Amino acid sequence: MLKDTIRTIPDYPKPGIQFRDITTLLRDAIAFRDAVESLSAPYRNRDVRAVAGIEARGFILGGAVAHQLGTGFVPIRKKGKLPHETLRVEYTLEYGRDEMEIHRDAVQPGERVILVDDLIATGGSALAAISLLRSLGAEIVAACFVIDLPELKGADRIRAMDIPVQALVAFEGH
Ligand code: AMP
Repeated sequence: MLKDTIRTIPDYPKPGIQFRDITTLLRDAIAFRDAVESLSAPYRNRDVRAVAGIEARGFILGGAVAHQLGTGFVPIRKKGKLPHETLRVEYTLEYGRDEMEIHRDAVQPGERVILVDDLIATGGSALAAISLLRSLGAEIVAACFVIDLPELKGADRIRAMDIPVQALVAFEGH
């Protein structure tokens, strides 16, 4: 089972957090292929033009999904990493704030895009990425994750914006 290939590290990076480590999934050829195929399958023949991935684990999965769907890939990165003109958004982390960016010319108005990351918790990062994509006029077809932590309600927050959420597995707790 896909879920069994995800390793849990208790109290990382701080006490009380159960870190869901996907490096073990990525290292398993069958699990990696299954995950990418399951994330891609619903969007075949849906006129998706790009996959946007959130740095850094969203790059690994999103790049593979883009390849499967035959689309381009759009990186959404921590501030200061993208070389051309960017759009920037500030978002809230558990402690403090951070900023993420997208290239202003990465998506054309009306383009159909899916968003990919490894895990959705509170939804802070995904909602920031969605706001960047929407500012560029993207039509967000879905937000896709390997892992959902439903107790943190991030997926609910995205669905409340009329964006379908796909997650392959769910874990209880934080
Ligand atoms: P959030 O913005 O709260 O939805 O958090 C999602 C981001 O933080 C994703 O990019 C995850 O990689 C990372 N993250 C949050 N919680 C965990 C966790 N328990 N295990 C692994 N990664 C996590």
